[in-house]
Parts: sequence; C-alpha cells; structure tokens
Amino acid sequence: MNNSNLIDIASEFGKPVYVYDSEKIAEQYHRLTAAFSKVKNLRINYATKALSNISILKFMKELGSGLDTVSIQEVKLGLAAGFSPEAILYTPNGVSLKEIEDVTKMGVQINIDNLSLLEQFGARHPKIPVCIRINPHVMAGGNSNISVGHIDSKFGISIHQIPHLLRIVENTAMNINGIHMHTGSDILDIGVFLHAAEILFDTAKNFKDLEFLDFGSGFKVPYHANDIDTNIEDLGEQLTERFVDFCAEYGRDLQLIFEPGKFLVSRAGHFVTQVNVVKQTTSTVFAQVDSGFNHLIRPMLYGSHHDIENLTNPNGKERFYSVVGYICETDTFGNNRKIAELTEGDLLVFRNAGAYCFSMASNYNSRYRPAEVLWHNNQAHLIRKRETFEDLLNNQIEVDFNPVTTLE
Ligand SMILES: *Cc1c(COP(=O)(O)O)cnc(C)c1O
Repeated sequence: MNNSNLIDIASEFGKPVYVYDSEKIAEQYHRLTAAFSKVKNLRINYATKALSNISILKFMKELGSGLDTVSIQEVKLGLAAGFSPEAILYTPNGVSLKEIEDVTKMGVQINIDNLSLLEQFGARHPKIPVCIRINPHVMAGGNSNISVGHIDSKFGISIHQIPHLLRIVENTAMNINGIHMHTGSDILDIGVFLHAAEILFDTAKNFKDLEFLDFGSGFKVPYHANDIDTNIEDLGEQLTERFVDFCAEYGRDLQLIFEPGKFLVSRAGHFVTQVNVVKQTTSTVFAQVDSGFNHLIRPMLYGSHHDIENLTNPNGKERFYSVVGYICETDTFGNNRKIAELTEGDLLVFRNAGAYCFSMASNYNSRYRPAEVLWHNNQAHLIRKRETFEDLLNNQIEVDFNPVTTLE
C-alpha cells in the first residue's frame, strides 16, 4: 500500500479515515512465529483491545491466531468473528465475579488476577480450569500508564503473595492450568523480559497440572526514526532455549502463548486527515486538521509520537508546524514537526495508527467517529462506516418538559 492508495481511499470514503494494511499485519505475525519456530506448541493470541474491528479479528483468525480479550464484550466479538471458545483467553482486571462466571459458561479459558476472586471462583467452581496472572514486579518501559508489572501496578497477583495463592488453591482444590504475566507495553531490554520469564518459571514449578505458560506482550515497535524495536529474533532464540529446558525439567511440553496487540497492528495503520486551517501565531504555525483526541488520543494521553506526513504535497519545502486538532480543548498531535509545506486542504497522514487509535475513539464534541478501511489484496474494503447524526442520538431519550396538564 502506498501514499497514492491512501489519497484515493480518502477521496472515496471521505476524511478523516483509518486505513489498515493486511499485508503488514501478516508480515508481523509471521515475523513473530518465525522467531519462535522451535517451540513445539506456540500460540499467538492477538490482543483484541488494540484494534477490535470484526474484519481485523477475522483476518487474525485466517492467520491462525487466537484472541486475548479483556471484557465479556470482546469475548462476544471474538465468537462473532468465528473464533472457537478454546481459541480465546479472557484476562480481565477488576471485573465482577458474575462477568467471569458468564464468560466461563461460554467455554472460554479464564485468567484471574486477584486473590479475592480466585478464592470465590475456586470455592464455587473447583473443576473449571483457571489460569492465574502473576505480577513479577519487573519494571518494563518508562511510562507508568502502560507499564503494568511494577510494584504499584493494579495488575496481577504479586509474587510475594504466592504462599497465600497456594493456600487458596489447596483449600478449594481448584485446577490451575496456566500461568500468565504481562509486564507492560514496551520491552526496551530483552534482559528485563527474560528476568520476568524466570520468575514465571519459578512460579510455575508450584503447579502440577499446567498446560500453558503465557508471557503476555510488551513487544515494542518503532514510532519514529531511531526508536527502539524489540529484537524479536534475539528474544525468540534466548527464550526458546530457556522454555525448552523448563519443559524438560517440568516433565511435559507446555504451550507457549504470546498476546501481542501493538506489534501486530500498529504499523499497519494509517490515519488520514485534512488540514482545515493553517494559522500563524506569534510563536508557531499551527496546522489544524479535521480531527482531534476524539479520534486519536495517544499523543495527549501518553505523549506518544506518531510520524506525520503531507500526502498531497510530499515534495514541498519542509517547515516546522504544530499539528493540532479541531476539538475545543488542547489537542496537540505534535509540536515542531518538520513537514513538507502545507496549505489548507492538504491531506496529512499519521503513521503507526493501527493500535489503540480507533479503539480509543469517542464522540467528544459530538463528532462522528471515522470510517475504517482495510487494504487487502490491492483493494480497499470499507470495514466500518463513518458515523452519522442518528448514531449520536441513538440511545438518548428526550424528556418532554412541556406536558399538557389536564385539569380535573
Ligand atoms: C493490552 C494487553 C496486551 C497487548 O499489549 P501490547 O502492548 O499492545 O502488545 C496483552 N495482554 C494483556 C493482558 C493486555 O491487557
């Protein structure tokens, strides 16, 4: 897929529009499976929350992926996309016992991340196999919003609570069939990941009936030139060796699971917007696009960097811009960005817009959420219509403040 395809898609389906390249998703999927090709029983569970469009889920299924889900609604989306319940793992945080029980009834493997619900679930359903999510207290990456394995994190059962965990398992006679960790969103250093893996192996030794070990995700993808890319091949080699040794020691070939979200879809996504206004102020030149944090919130929420390029005047003289949105609130996509000279009406593309972009979109300022298009086999497929005014009013109920009062 090239820039002129993006321009054609914007003129056919309107702006702003999210475009996903299936070939790039497949390439990432195969890169990951190739790096772990020596693992006998490998399973990739795509993290649905990164990009949950049903056509994307179906494409993941075509690739051979399973699903990682964090809500009963994501489980239902996965089933609707044709996944069998066995291909779905449910890893919620802070949900009710009732939601976990409802997911269990669908035949989906559950993963519990706190002792309170583990004890209650084990007491009520000792025969249903449960995976447990541990928190190895390893700090991965630098942003506390997306690092979920450190000491203050709300995720997982602390490894310091293993004695209590074992007591619960023994008292309820429940069946633990998997151990899981997900240390955070950015693995910058493979050594840190391998260290966390050792903690998972140590924990696993406490359980006799394991079927799988789930190492979560955290694979980083570069968001700009010179950014770090997790060395998957290197990780594959080192972790495979340790995993094979562990299985030999454990006495059984376990399944190895990963749950990548960002790694599979981030780079496949392109968000195309149009410049509404070029506004010179005393301090900068603002380029204001027909979007805002209602469509792409990562820069404002996490300070994430998305490369921004001028699609319609790519060879113009480069100038510095502050790229902002049209929302009535500060919504800066990027400051001091060197972009080929912009005029009003130019199309700007935001790169790396596949993961946590559309899936975090809202209707703030009563704007419509954009259309989504999948570029597959050299063809554009509309996979979500742009919202309309009816969508905004949907579910709203009008109160009649002028009832006709009848005198009696
Ligand atoms: C979000 C999430 C992932 C995916 O993380 P990425 O950084 O997008 O790869 C995997 N596992 C769990 C439990 C998650 O919550």
